[in-house]
This record gives sequence, C-alpha cells and structure tokens, in this order.
Amino acid sequence: MPGTEVFGDEERREAMQVLETGALFRYGHEELRRGRWKARDLEAEVRGYTGARYAHAVSSGSTAVACALAAAGVGHGDRVVVPPFTFLATIEAVVLAGGLPVFADIDDTLCLSADGIREALAAGPRAVLLVHMCGAAADMDPILEVCREHQLVLVEDAGQALGAFHRGTSVGRFGRTGCFSFDFFKIVTCGEGGVFITDEEEAYRLADAFSDHGHSHVGSNRGMEPHPILGFNYRIGELNAAIGLAQMRKLEWIRERKRAHKEVLRSRLAGVPGVGFRRLPDPEGDSGTFLNLLLPDAEAASAAVAEMAAEDVPGVNYWFVNMYHFINQWDHLKDLASAAPLAAHHLGSPQEYHALDLPVSQDVIGRLISLGIRCTWSEDELDAVGERAERAVRRVLGG
Ligand SMILES: *Cc1c(COP(=O)(O)O)cnc(C)c1O
Repeated sequence: MPGTEVFGDEERREAMQVLETGALFRYGHEELRRGRWKARDLEAEVRGYTGARYAHAVSSGSTAVACALAAAGVGHGDRVVVPPFTFLATIEAVVLAGGLPVFADIDDTLCLSADGIREALAAGPRAVLLVHMCGAAADMDPILEVCREHQLVLVEDAGQALGAFHRGTSVGRFGRTGCFSFDFFKIVTCGEGGVFITDEEEAYRLADAFSDHGHSHVGSNRGMEPHPILGFNYRIGELNAAIGLAQMRKLEWIRERKRAHKEVLRSRLAGVPGVGFRRLPDPEGDSGTFLNLLLPDAEAASAAVAEMAAEDVPGVNYWFVNMYHFINQWDHLKDLASAAPLAAHHLGSPQEYHALDLPVSQDVIGRLISLGIRCTWSEDELDAVGERAERAVRRVLGG
C-alpha cells in the first residue's frame, strides 16, 4: 500500500490549506478559496506526469472508468471486450453503462492479449476495455494492431497502473480515453478519488460535463451554465484532491523505490528452479507495485501461498484468496444479479457467462502469486522478506 505508506506532513499541509478556507467544492467560490484550487492542481500534476493533454479528477477510480466509457461513446447495448482478471469495478462500469461485457482471455502479461481479443470478435464487440493489471502495461503493439484492424474503440482502465509506461508512453494514453484510481490501496491515494485522461478535447469536454450533471463549466454563474448533456455527480471534493496533490508529488520517488525493491526480490527468487515471472513487454516501464510469480502449476502456487503466509510474506493467489479480482469468484456477475433491471437483462448477455471457455486465464491465474512491494522497506526488512519468501517457495519446489 505505497501511497498510504508515505502519508505525512505534505498531505496534512495541503488538506489544511483547504480547511483554512472552507472551500470544499471544486468549482466556483472564488471569494472564499483564496486562489486555492486543489482539484485543478491535481489535474495539472497528472497531466505533467502522464503527458496527457487533458486530465479530469473525479470521486473514484470506478467513476473514472464510467467517465472513460461515456466520453468514448460506449453505452447502451454496446458489446465491450473485458478481461476476466481485473478489479470488479471494470465490469460493473460496463454493465451500469448499459453495456454488455464480452470476456476474453488474458495471457502471461496478466492483461488481455491480442489473441484473446481476436477470439472474442465473434461476439461482435464495439469496444475493448483494456485493464493494465498489477502495475504494468499490457502488450500494447499487437493489441493496438487488432483494435485498428477491426475498428474497435480502445478504452483503458489503468486503475492500478499509474506510474506504468510502455516504451515511454504512460498507460491510459493509448486508447481514446483512460483512467486511474486513487483509492486507499493504490500507488498514490486521495483516500477516495480517480482521474480521467485523454488527448481529445471533445472527450475531455464530455467527461467534464458527465461527471457533474452535464454542467458545461462555461461562465461563472453555476446555476445558469448550459447543460450540453445528461450526467451525474462523480465530483471529487477539494479535501480529497489536496491529499492526492501531495501524493502525486511523491509518485516518482515511490516508483523508483518500489522498482529497486522489486528487483532485489526478483533476482533472489529467480534463483529458485521452477519460479517464473509475469511477462513484461517493456520491463523499463513497470511501476514496481507487485512482483508476480508464475509457478509450474496451481497446486504448487496454492502450497507456496500457504508457506508464505506461515512466513508472514504477503503473497496472494487470486484464485483462492481474493473474491474481487478473478471471474471464478463472480457468480453474482454471471447471474447478472442486480438491485434493478439492467440493459443486459433486456438485451441478453453476449456469452453464456456460466460456460465461458478461458483456458489461458484459468491456467495463468491458477499459477500466479502476487507479492505487494513496499516502498518503505529498509534494507534489512527487504533482506528478511526475500529470505522468508525464498524459504517458503523452496519448501514447495525443492532446490
Ligand atoms: C481500484 C480499481 C478500480 C476502481 O477504483 P476505485 O477508486 O476503488 O473506485 C477500477 N479498476 C481497476 C483495475 C482497479 O484496480
């Protein structure tokens, strides 16, 4: 939990500046706010860091995904290719927008693969919602090619990949629209918050209005602004934005520390016969948030997770441990269980969700162990974690 690890005086100072004025709302109130615009400043930091032309901060990563879909024109009845390995919010955003998820295989990058997307073409998708899992980019070149070839709208959920790049370009900038999360478990945090990015002015204007009941944010009389479109309240508050601003300024430091710590653990575990790793199409672009081990089979992975737990090493296998990230735990989704009728209930789902055939995903997730990397580990702590992780894995794999 890197962002929360380094919460300190800088965050308190930024939040205090908001509390001194009482200007908690991100729009207007010029007389109150004494020139302090935390959401705007946060957006400027995100633009500077990612290189995106436009950034728009919102209330969460989930609402940022909703903005990314809406601003890319993806909505009612649209079939959207999604991965079976992601945080559930990705799928919820599609379903609640009236879209119809089409599940496709991931591969050893832990992200949707071009082959998986090709196989899903039979379901007639209009868009791909690509998720960059565990802090690193998907295999962008073949994915961009298949999207171009079949005129699929590419939208990126980089909810857990701020600080990840592919050949120098930030994730979130390959598609028409993209987004990041600043929730409490991400590389930097607002407590709750997210940000939408794009290089297209029109998409930015749509997301800006969509996240605030359609307000155009033109002119200074909020009640009298034109309402170009319908929207909803996905606004971020100034207090949350202030925290995120301080955190964004620490992002590069966090990233460098995590990459260094990860490399120490990686090279140590690489010496254990049978241990493989998640494929990184651009290792230099990795944000370093997780070390992802791929063991020879699911039995070995499950045994190694248990051994790690006994050694107090925080290794996660998404098949067994965590209810929110892999499709084999999502019966409520397969049932389309919901509080109220959804578009998918009327239009029908594009695949038989209870009978999906995603062999590569099943294989990879079964063998995966994700190890969260801390940026605040001392050298001694890092050494101890490495020693205990290696001991745990060797007890299962021998050697
Ligand atoms: C965390 C996350 C989200 C949702 O972000 P919140 O800020 O928790 O709403 C969406 N997609 C992915 C891939 C995530 O990891």
